Amino acid sequence: MKYIVSISGGKDSTACLLYMLERVKKENIIPVFCDTKWEADETYEYLDYLQRKLDIEIIRIESEGMEKLVKRIKCLPNHFKRFCTKELKTKPFHKWLKKQNFDEFKVVEGIRKEESLARSEAEVFEIKKSYFYKDLFIPTFRPIVEWSKEKVFEYIKNKGIKLNPLYKKGYSRVGCFPCVFWNKHDLLLFANEDKYLKRMRELEKEISELVGKQVRFFEERRDKFLRTKSLFKEVV
Ligand code: SF4
Repeated sequence: MKYIVSISGGKDSTACLLYMLERVKKENIIPVFCDTKWEADETYEYLDYLQRKLDIEIIRIESEGMEKLVKRIKCLPNHFKRFCTKELKTKPFHKWLKKQNFDEFKVVEGIRKEESLARSEAEVFEIKKSYFYKDLFIPTFRPIVEWSKEKVFEYIKNKGIKLNPLYKKGYSRVGCFPCVFWNKHDLLLFANEDKYLKRMRELEKEISELVGKQVRFFEERRDKFLRTKSLFKEVV
């Protein structure tokens, strides 16, 4: 049995990886990271740290990346149009999974019930059906589904493993930088990230030119908040 642990660089997937390493032989654990090419440097550095510290290889599953994707489809994702996850994570992951031909496998997911209403119904085991391949059924194991956020932090700390430095900066979640699902608190921190703000504004400008109207990653209210808090000289 192979256990494919989906790693994001965030605390929950790190806890899952440590949980599996405690129970299963290392050679049967396959950590994978779906690269949106839209992450913060801290996350890429953290993945390198985990590899060194745990003596494991994290397989990087490539996607076309956020910038190429939005230019190709001439559209930015937003709170209501979450095609980014499907295109940059789920689809490349399922494609990779299809190619592996494992006799027996389980995908290990670090999702927790307390994260959201949608996740509150999540089960420890589930067989998921791929959206992209009719014949792909994915046995999924969620070992930390009942854990609290505090338990996750404590577990990682007790294992002597550092957290992604983005948590120290105050971010509540790790993933795309920025992620269209960020809350006001994360946007407030992001308002001082000149390098990534510039990257986001330049992409917005390119897509706006392609579609002939101003488009943004965040809807008006949150974008206005970001602009108000930002010290960055707007490029758009
Ligand atoms: S982390 Fe956010 S922006 Fe990135 S793919 Fe997921 S929903 Fe989209």
